[in-house]
Amino acid sequence: MKDIQALFPSEDGNKERRQVLLQFMQNIVEGLDRLKDPQRATLGSMQERTGEFYKDIIDCAQVPERGIALDKVVEELLGLAKGHPYHTRNFVSNVLPMASIPGILGSLLTTLLNGNNLWDVYGPAGAEAEVKVIAMMSKLAGYDATKSWGYTTWGGQGAVFSGLRLAIAKQFPDAKEKGVPGNLYCFASENAHYSLFKSMEATGIGSNHLITVKADPLTHAMNTDDLREKMERVIQQGGIPIYIVATTGATDSFGIDDIKAIKETADAITNRYGLHPAHIHADSALGGFYCLFNDYDFARNPLQLEQPLCENLLQIREKMQHLHLADSLCFDFQKLGQTPYLTSLFLVKNGKDIGLLDLHEFETPYVGNRGYGSYHTSYTLECSRMASSIAIYAALLAFGVDGYRQILANYVRVNMAFRDRLLARFSNVAVTNENNPGPITTFRFYPEQAEWHKERAGKLTGKQIKQNNEWNYPIFEELGKHREHVFFGDTTRQCLVDASDVSKRVPVYAAKFFSISPYTTVETLDEIVEFLAKRVACVDTMRNAREKTYV
Ligand SMILES: *Cc1c(COP(=O)(O)O)cnc(C)c1O
Repeated sequence: MKDIQALFPSEDGNKERRQVLLQFMQNIVEGLDRLKDPQRATLGSMQERTGEFYKDIIDCAQVPERGIALDKVVEELLGLAKGHPYHTRNFVSNVLPMASIPGILGSLLTTLLNGNNLWDVYGPAGAEAEVKVIAMMSKLAGYDATKSWGYTTWGGQGAVFSGLRLAIAKQFPDAKEKGVPGNLYCFASENAHYSLFKSMEATGIGSNHLITVKADPLTHAMNTDDLREKMERVIQQGGIPIYIVATTGATDSFGIDDIKAIKETADAITNRYGLHPAHIHADSALGGFYCLFNDYDFARNPLQLEQPLCENLLQIREKMQHLHLADSLCFDFQKLGQTPYLTSLFLVKNGKDIGLLDLHEFETPYVGNRGYGSYHTSYTLECSRMASSIAIYAALLAFGVDGYRQILANYVRVNMAFRDRLLARFSNVAVTNENNPGPITTFRFYPEQAEWHKERAGKLTGKQIKQNNEWNYPIFEELGKHREHVFFGDTTRQCLVDASDVSKRVPVYAAKFFSISPYTTVETLDEIVEFLAKRVACVDTMRNAREKTYV
């Protein structure tokens, strides 16, 4: 039994065992440091994982009959890290950030305490941190922290799902027992994240009852006229709109839906037809953090941000200032909050509503409902929960509002510079989210001159748009193949545009630059743009060679 006990941290806090644990941690950190290289976006060389890679793993995988020594385990673990993407200056792929030191320390405490966030009797640290971060973020988002409530959950997707559970419960409290009525409908922009699509499936409403609302071609934000028309049509056919997801910071183009306009539109319609208001969830998983500029003093400008940057941030604030109008919202701290996976915070404006999701005492016989302990999260979909609030709490303390503002502003600054350099370097490229300042730039190449303005205005045929899409596809492949140097992203549906000849809207392919590393700065952009130029030139050479063989 002594050997087995040696696999655990000490019981009594002795120094010897502490050193053992710290030494292994040090080996891991050192092992990773040896693999780091700022000129790459991976830890050492990437391994291709195609062909028989996973099949070979399955054939060989076996639990050892006798456990192996911990130093060998550490070696094996470091083997997993080889070639892993890493968030250097050259990592500009998507919202996959580096975990900050406070985030890591918070996670470490979470792991060492290993409390269960289900009940404060089992996880008091998690409960306390959770209440703190709910209140802290409620205040920043503009909610009344004495009325709001929330919990950490399984991602922005979990938040969209939780919002839908609430939306159902608010109008149909007995749906929990009887199942959902067959005439419920939900609405989201065509640029919304697929979380809602999945939630429709999971709640049994069915994804056919998800109504997609058109987005504006200039801003990629939800078109509220289309929302009005579609809500009316649903109601006239006997349907009940219960849930509207307003995307505040779309994953690809950073379009920000106007929550105020959406709420006014939706409330006017449900009011007119004598229906309950639809629950509005701000899917602010990604963009919500920009509400930290809601009360930044732009006139005094204590962070001395450049004027053009301030103008961009003010444009974001124009939309973000309405975040508090949403009935629920989300902050994905593992995105712009600089903490490790999984640290998503779901917040509800009228916290009492969460009680509608609660289980009865009878159904939770062994936790909660005792004289001791007073925090029991039987309203979450999870049973056991990790205390991810601890990492969030640590990051909020270490960054402070100003620290977050600096990193969030830098993403915007870097994107402004990237757009300038991109357009200066290529004559056949267009920025396709040109009216959305933020951490993302989507861009697209053309065989000759850029045609984005025509595409955006619906002046090209479906075939022409598709040909332009296909022009970009080999560039995605080429960039992807060389991602260990600079890791770009791409999307095959940045947005939808009208075609001049067919009624069905056509998806737009775009390459994606997502500034997410704290080490990507304006100074590091030249190399990134050079890399891009080289890869695009390579694709052009391949295209020319192919053309010649056809002639
Ligand atoms: C990332 C994202 C999600 C999903 O969040 P997860 O944390 O990955 O579950 C949902 N909505 C938006 C707008 C997002 O950007």
